Amino acid sequence: MAAIEMKNIVKQYGDGFPAVNDVSLDIADGEFMILVGPSGCGKSTLLRMIVGLEDITSGDMLIGGKRVNDLAPRDRNLSMVFQNYALYPHMTVYENIAFPLRLSKTPDDEVRRRVTEASDVLELKDHLERKPANLSGGQRQRVAMGRAIVRQAEAFLFDEPLSNLDAKLRGQMRTEISRLQRRLGITTVYVTHDQTEAMTLGDRVCVLRKGKIQQVASPRELYEQPVNLFVAGFIGSPPMNFLPAVPKGNRLETPFGDIEIDPARAGKLAGHDLLMVGIRPESFEDATLVEESKRHLGSTFRARVDVTEWLGDSQFAYIPYEAPEAITTQLRDLSRELDAEDLRTQAIVSIDSTSRMREGREAEFWLDSRKVHVFDPETGENLT
Ligand code: ATP
Repeated sequence: MAAIEMKNIVKQYGDGFPAVNDVSLDIADGEFMILVGPSGCGKSTLLRMIVGLEDITSGDMLIGGKRVNDLAPRDRNLSMVFQNYALYPHMTVYENIAFPLRLSKTPDDEVRRRVTEASDVLELKDHLERKPANLSGGQRQRVAMGRAIVRQAEAFLFDEPLSNLDAKLRGQMRTEISRLQRRLGITTVYVTHDQTEAMTLGDRVCVLRKGKIQQVASPRELYEQPVNLFVAGFIGSPPMNFLPAVPKGNRLETPFGDIEIDPARAGKLAGHDLLMVGIRPESFEDATLVEESKRHLGSTFRARVDVTEWLGDSQFAYIPYEAPEAITTQLRDLSRELDAEDLRTQAIVSIDSTSRMREGREAEFWLDSRKVHVFDPETGENLT
């Protein structure tokens, strides 16, 4: 097992915009690190540079403290699981898993021992004589993982390994990968564009945008303290609501009404005429259900509910609002970049399933002021 260190890594294809642009990232020994971001952000390129499938334009890549920039992939002792599994169709499951050991000329009884161990862990014991064509997508995925774990590799690298599976299987495999990684305690780098995978699998998540790191943090920190609009919009489902706001002392005037904020936080907003507030759907509550003792911690406002969606354990209410052009243009661009629906002329509010609010009627909402994020609409930076 080994730590992976990246120092000022750049990847330049031709003379265009760098695909990876000055990335420095330390992945600790045994850590599960997720690389996430929208299509084209450079996450696969970064992974391929760790494995050695892509040359590094500049910067240093260290594995286990050793510089590997000029080391061939086979000499890096890493195990990679690809999206399409890359199984050999003419070989049995047993031989597919054994393949890396055959390459390294491991003695037969050692091969048998390791393949048996891996197939036990992955529950493939009953399928060892089958060919990949006769396996389900999930089983093929496990064979690919088996092949990765029979070798005593320094680290596992995954490139969107679940994206070809249906939603149910994806959920199952996610749990399996997570369990396996904890059990083996092996350094893991996992590329995905799926934020559920990013939030549930990793110890830490590295969010990339246009080849640059935006934030490296635990899933919880990304959710609670996103450093900018991009991370805030990328993490969370349904996504964070962004509303225009004008600061007035300790208040922020928004299309929904005024939000009182802590004077210390308000102090950081001096000099801004127009701000963007970010509020997660789940930071709202139906005001009629909020305990009296907690009301003073937030702001209450009235709004007309356009549509409601009942989900069993909660419900969504959609609230239309008007925003100035400057804000909507920026949000439209951000939505496009995040490949998210352009829902920025309405807010989504997640409330308790027992709430009695109705479509087409006014309702009273309560908002926990401590959970309001404030961004600079020009730079996108989180100001508080
Ligand atoms: P996706 O999720 O779509 O796979 P990604 O975040 O993994 O995207 P990369 O595949 O790393 O992104 O690509 C990053 C950028 O580098 C993109 O703009 C891509 O077009 C470009 N790129 C990738 N491979 C090459 C190549 N071989 N030649 C030229 N440009 C490339």
